[in-house]
Amino acid sequence: MAQKQKKFLVYLIYSLTVVFIFGFLLWLGHFRAFQDFMNKIENSSYDLRQSIISTYKKPNKNIVILAIDDESYEYIMDKFGSWPVSRKIWAEVIETLEKAQSKYIVFDLLFLKPNLADIESDFALIKAVENRDNIFFSMNFDNYNEAVRTPKILDNKLKLKVDKGFLSDNQYITFTNVRPLMDDLEKAAGQVGSINVVRDEDGIIRTTIPVFKYRKEYYPNLSLALALNMLDKKSIRIKKNTIIIDKKHKIPLDKTNRAIINWYGKKGTYKNIPLWEVIEKKDDIGFLQNNFEDKIVYIGTTATSLADIKSTPLEPHLSGVELHGNFLNNILDNNFIKRLPLKIDFLISIILSFIIGYFVLRTDSVLKTFIVLFATLVLYALISTYALLFFKIWMSVVFPYITMFCTFILVYCEKYLLKVKDYEQTYKLAITDGLTQLYNHRYFQEQMILNVNNYLRYNTTFSLILIDIDFFKKFNDTYGHQSGDFVLRKTAQILKKNSRALDIVCRYGGEEMAIILTNTNNKDAISAANKICEAVRNADYNLVDDQKAKVTISLGVATIGLNGASVQELIEYCDKCLYKAKELGRNRVESQL
Ligand code: GH3
Ligand code: MG
Ligand code: MG
Repeated sequence: MAQKQKKFLVYLIYSLTVVFIFGFLLWLGHFRAFQDFMNKIENSSYDLRQSIISTYKKPNKNIVILAIDDESYEYIMDKFGSWPVSRKIWAEVIETLEKAQSKYIVFDLLFLKPNLADIESDFALIKAVENRDNIFFSMNFDNYNEAVRTPKILDNKLKLKVDKGFLSDNQYITFTNVRPLMDDLEKAAGQVGSINVVRDEDGIIRTTIPVFKYRKEYYPNLSLALALNMLDKKSIRIKKNTIIIDKKHKIPLDKTNRAIINWYGKKGTYKNIPLWEVIEKKDDIGFLQNNFEDKIVYIGTTATSLADIKSTPLEPHLSGVELHGNFLNNILDNNFIKRLPLKIDFLISIILSFIIGYFVLRTDSVLKTFIVLFATLVLYALISTYALLFFKIWMSVVFPYITMFCTFILVYCEKYLLKVKDYEQTYKLAITDGLTQLYNHRYFQEQMILNVNNYLRYNTTFSLILIDIDFFKKFNDTYGHQSGDFVLRKTAQILKKNSRALDIVCRYGGEEMAIILTNTNNKDAISAANKICEAVRNADYNLVDDQKAKVTISLGVATIGLNGASVQELIEYCDKCLYKAKELGRNRVESQL
C-alpha cells in the first residue's frame, strides 16, 4: 500500500476510535446507573478540589455563631430542665446582644407555635423583637398533607419581590406547605427567611436554595433576606439562571435553580461563642463587645446531641447554622460556583482526547507517551482546581479523564497492532527473493543451520536438493534477459507446486535454487527430485511473442547423516552431485558421487 494511503488509513482509524469512545460513553449515559456512577466520582473530585482551595479563602470575620453546643445543651438542661428553652431566655439573649451592639441577630431556630403553658415567655420574646428590624427569624417549607396542616397565607412583608424574570417550578424550590413563624412573632419580626437545606444523593450538601416558591409567590432564603437588607435592596432580578441583587452581587443557579455553595472551611470557620457563656457573662460588657460588637450573629444549634448536623465537601459534621453563615458569606463576597455547561466539558474532552491520541500515534517512545498522558492528567487537574479557585468554575474532571484514558488505551492498541503488522511485512520482505518470491539465500542458511542443529540434538533427518537450470546462459543469450527472468519465475513456481507445504524452497543464487526437505530420508528426497525434474521437463514455457521454450534442470541430492554432518559438508556434497548431473548430460538427478 502506498505510504500516503496507509497514513490516511491510520488517521482514519484513529479518528474513528475517538468518535467511537464518545459515542459509546454517550450511549452509556442513557443508563441511570452509569450517570450515578459518573456523578459520584465527579462530585468526589469536586469535593477534593473544594478542600484544596478552601485554605486560600478568607471567611468574613463579622459573621459569628452563637452556638448551642453540647456544653450549652448540658448547661441548659441542668439550669432550666428542658430543651427547647423557655423563650424568655431568647428575649434575654436579644437584650444582651443589643447591649453588645451586634449588627444583626439571625435565628436559625424555629419558633413555630405559641407555647400555651408559658405564654408569658412568648410575650417577652415578641416584646424584645418589636421595633427592631435587625432581627431575622426562620421558617421552613415542606409538602405536608393539608389534612395535617393547612397551608398558611404568609404575610406580604415576607415575600421576595422579583422585579424581572422568573424561576420555573421544580421539586427543589417549589413547596405546597409551610412551617411558619408563630403569628404574633411574625408580625413583630423584621424579616423572615427559609432555612430549608437540600442534600445531594450521597447525603452531602453542595447546593443551597436561594429562592423558594410557595403558592405562586417567591420567598427568600434566610441568608438572602439578610443579604438584601445589608445591601439595602428590596427586590431581586432573575436573568439567564442568575439571581441579580445588584451589579456586584449575583447568584448563579444550576438547572434546578439551586446555587452551588463555595465553602470557606470546616467546623469553626466562623467564631463560635457558646450560649452558656453568653448567659453567664451577660453583664460582662467587655466580653460582649469583644465578641459581638458590629457582628452578624447567627444563633443555632451546633450540638451533636441536637442532631442539626450536615455533611459538606469539607466537613462531615457541619452544623446547619454555619452553613447559613457560609451562604451569607458567599452572597456578600459574590463567590458562588458556576458549573461549566456540559457542551463545553464535552468539547474540552474531545480536544484533549484527540491530542492524546495523536501524540500516542506520533511518538515511538513508550515512556514519553506515558509521561505525556500523566502530565496532561496532572495539568488538567491543576487547571480545574485553579478554575475553581480563581474563576469559581466547576469544570468536569471525570469525563475528560475517562475519555483521555480510553483514547490512550485504544489508540495504543491500534498502534501496536499496526506495528506488529508492519513488522510481519518487513520480516517477510527480508526473507523473500524479489524475483521469484521464493525464500532468499539468507533464509536458506538460517533454515539449514536450524535443521542441522535439530539433527545433532534430536537426530531428526532432512535432505537437501540443489537445482541448476541447464544452459541458462545460452537461454539468456538467445531469448534475452527478460525471458530469462520469466524462466526463473516459472521454474520457481513449478518447484513450489511440486513440493510439500513443509519443504523450504529457496533461491540459492543466480539461477540456482535449493529445497530443504524436512523429515525426509535420502530415498524419498531422490524421488521428490525426480518428480520435480520431470515436472520442469514437461512444462511449457510460453515466452513473449508466442515463442515456446523447453527448460531442463539438473539436481543434486544429499541427506544429513548419510552425506555429511554439517551445513558445509552437506552443501558441498550436494553441489558435487549437481556437478555430476551436469557432467552426465544434465536434465537428471544425482545423489551419489
Ligand atoms: P549449465 O547448464 O552448466 O548450468 O550452464 P549455464 O549456462 O546455466 O551456466 P551457469 O549456471 O554458470 O550460468 C549462470 C547464468 O545464469 C549466468 C547468468 O547470465 C544467468 N543468470 C543468473 N542470474 C540471473 C537472473 O536473475 N536473471 C537472468 N535472466 N539470468 C540470470
Ligand atoms: Mg549456475
Ligand atoms: Mg545453469
